[in-house]
Amino acid sequence: MKITADYHTHTIYSHGKGTIRENVEVALERGLKEIGICDHGPGHYMYGVKREKLFKMRKEVDKLNEEYKDKGIKVLLGVEANIIGYDGTIDVDDDIIDILDILLLGFHYGVLLNSINEYLLLNVLNPVSNIIPLFRDKLIKKNTNAIIKAIEKYPIDIITHPGDKARLDIKRIAEAAYERGIALEINAKHNQLSVENIKIALDTKVDFYINSDAHYPEDVGNVEEGFERAKKANVPINRIKNVED
Ligand SMILES: [Zn+2]
Ligand SMILES: [Zn+2]
Repeated sequence: MKITADYHTHTIYSHGKGTIRENVEVALERGLKEIGICDHGPGHYMYGVKREKLFKMRKEVDKLNEEYKDKGIKVLLGVEANIIGYDGTIDVDDDIIDILDILLLGFHYGVLLNSINEYLLLNVLNPVSNIIPLFRDKLIKKNTNAIIKAIEKYPIDIITHPGDKARLDIKRIAEAAYERGIALEINAKHNQLSVENIKIALDTKVDFYINSDAHYPEDVGNVEEGFERAKKANVPINRIKNVED
């Protein structure tokens, strides 16, 4: 199994360590045909990309595509958007969505939500319930509903590390994602989807991507951990959209 594209990489525009060009160079060395530059959405108060910077990134990506067009690699501009409201609102508006090639969505701590209650729900109750089962079922339902509402509202392509940070009902997420042609990510850096959750998702018709979530250029295309979990869960190769034999 070999990956053909890595759609989840971070740069200095959020809290990655490399430039867009450095990520692209490594992707090229590793023989990838496409790379996604998907920094954290602007709603993350610690390391979200600044909204205005996305317009600059668009120009940078266009220039790189022009420069690299004969080398067989395509650079996509995306965002790893955050849920900022339990009604499914995300931190990327339509003007930004218009300039993106790809849109990722995932739960992250450290995001300012639309209300203090929602802030506490995500940033306090979720981590607590990951340790002790307090309110766990209620939270799973709320988190799952938020993702489903978001994918109904926005043109999401991939749900990143589903079940990491905020627990989810993977079966419901997988079914809703499949209905909208959205894939679930097997993230090499985070242990969700776990083998067990990949198996649950496999019982639906949803497809997968295996991405690095690289925060350093040298990690671009480094998805070994993801491969291992996919193999353990016996994911058929035709269900993973960015790999080949
Ligand atoms: Zn993430
Ligand atoms: Zn990420």
